[in-house]
Amino acid sequence: MIELIGGVEALPTSGGSYVLTLRSSTLTRVTIGRLGEATVAPGWYLYVGSALGSGGLRGRLRHHLRAVRRPHWHIDYLRQVCTVEQVWCVIDAQCWEHCWAEQLATMATPAPRLRFGASDCRCIAHCFFVKTRPQCVDFVAAVRLAHPELPEMLCIAEGLR
Ligand SMILES: [Zn+2]
Repeated sequence: MIELIGGVEALPTSGGSYVLTLRSSTLTRVTIGRLGEATVAPGWYLYVGSALGSGGLRGRLRHHLRAVRRPHWHIDYLRQVCTVEQVWCVIDAQCWEHCWAEQLATMATPAPRLRFGASDCRCIAHCFFVKTRPQCVDFVAAVRLAHPELPEMLCIAEGLR
């Protein structure tokens, strides 16, 4: 794992996969588009995605850090009540998001709803809840056990706001 200095702007516009860690400090309810109302608990949410098209990682992560005006994706709704704390990502043409969702399902609880962020795939969800602050190194170690070919993970922990 490499701590990336310079935030999202230091990322390339080439493709990659990412995890957002989002912090919720209160117990609240939020409507998540067609999934309907869901409870958001105090703790952390881990959301996985990939950006393999135009704009790449930098373009997509800029979107995830911008103020939410008109929510479109499920994650936009969750962001209305959470703060993005860290970004973990790999620069790689291979799509890792479903593999990572499968890994997170063994470490965390699918939340705030089943199928969150996973409308177009077979994953249980692309978002998971943990009560204590998640650590990038723990996640990397868990993924590497099954996938030693995982590229270097970049962790952005500063300058996200
Ligand atoms: Zn999936």
